[in-house]
Amino acid sequence: MRMLIVEDETQVRDFLKISFEAECFAVDATGNGADGLRLALINEYDLLILDYMLPNHTGLEICRDLRAKGRTTPVLILSVNSETDIKTQVINAGADDYLTKPFSFTELHARVRALLRRSHVMTGPVYTAHDITLNSQSHTVTKGDTAIALTRKEFMLLECLMRHRGTVLSRGMLIENVWDMNADPFSNTIESHILSLRKKLNINVSKDIIKTVTGYGYKIE
Ligand code: CA
Repeated sequence: MRMLIVEDETQVRDFLKISFEAECFAVDATGNGADGLRLALINEYDLLILDYMLPNHTGLEICRDLRAKGRTTPVLILSVNSETDIKTQVINAGADDYLTKPFSFTELHARVRALLRRSHVMTGPVYTAHDITLNSQSHTVTKGDTAIALTRKEFMLLECLMRHRGTVLSRGMLIENVWDMNADPFSNTIESHILSLRKKLNINVSKDIIKTVTGYGYKIE
């Protein structure tokens, strides 16, 4: 799951990035409205969190621009109390939800999950394939009755493959969904994570659960 956070208050931005990364999101973050709009146009995000007041473009302007260009990515606006009539403005800009500052991360996280479910990005929280069950809410993976301990990146990679079960995902798509914009697309990160995932998941199985599609990428049937 990949999100963009556009928030000019450094402390809030850093806090949100760290908190959502801990919840297994790949997070890009910027404090500038113009950069936010540019990133939202060139990358495929599952969700955008936009602050209302930003340098260069407001969050609502970014949202309006994206909608005018046909982008349907779910948008949540962060506003402050003094901004009156926020609800109407949010609806008019084509945003999906808003939250007034100060807010708790628990509430923001709950709303993000609700938006992802509503937009069918997230169909879970529970995904199954073969005898593997992944719970994206509790961040647990079991194989039969045995709990499998995964690193955060391994979990994110497996969640992405299970969410798109039956579809071949290219290296690029996996990098976009699991790593942030600072990832080096030429490193062998994906390969080494797939290798360790296979080791952990393929215990007592003769065939690989994660299939390599030569020249393209990986999939789970
Ligand atoms: Ca602001």
